[in-house]
Amino acid sequence: MAEFLFITDLDNTLVGDDAAMQQLLDQLTRHRDQHGTKIVYSTGRSLTSYQQLKAEKHLVDPDALVTGVGTAIYHQGSREPNADWATLLSQNWDRERVRAIADSFEDLMPQPESEQGPFKVSYYLHPSVASNILPQLEAKLQREALAVNLIYSGSKDFDLLPANAHKGYAMTFLRNAYGFAPERTVACGDSGNDRAFFAVGSERGIIVGNAMPELLDWHSANPADHRYLAQAYYAAGVLEGLAFFGFLAS
Ligand SMILES: [Mg+2]
Repeated sequence: MAEFLFITDLDNTLVGDDAAMQQLLDQLTRHRDQHGTKIVYSTGRSLTSYQQLKAEKHLVDPDALVTGVGTAIYHQGSREPNADWATLLSQNWDRERVRAIADSFEDLMPQPESEQGPFKVSYYLHPSVASNILPQLEAKLQREALAVNLIYSGSKDFDLLPANAHKGYAMTFLRNAYGFAPERTVACGDSGNDRAFFAVGSERGIIVGNAMPELLDWHSANPADHRYLAQAYYAAGVLEGLAFFGFLAS
């Protein structure tokens, strides 16, 4: 068994079934110790909110942590985000103008300050109005020549990010930093913001069985051999996918 780069979303992917999660983390940690496999968490949560979840669920320390939907990368043991990644994101990003435009839409309810970041402007958006609001906002940003990555996830969270900030590019950045080939890289997710994992290249993808309709619909419209839709839910679905691709024995 050779080393691989394992990247997973947290809420409703790694986390959701405590027993399966423990089994998965035990196997991955053993693989890391024996073969040099890397474990990366990639979440929409802020660093603070991640730390709460980590303590509550006794998550093992990852080799790297990606927070805020790809907007910050922390290497193990560091409290400072990766500066090269921050420099990349800061190109063509005008947070104040983006925020001012989004604030002009009444249906966008700002998320608490703890969920905002230098490269992330976040709102709550009700699904009943989303299909009406999103094209209007997109057009307005385009008229202002602002390149922004809009991510609607979990039928609730709406993020405006720099154009090159998403979970997929953060994955590619780490894959290159660690020197893994796409076929030795696997990413797992359940919702809209995880789509970027599966759309950026030929890295292996695992969609857990409990995935949100927004991701399932996209997957059925864009099937690919390098992506696997698991039957099982949460971490059990991840284990199923890792066995399917031959990363871990079933
Ligand atoms: Mg999730």
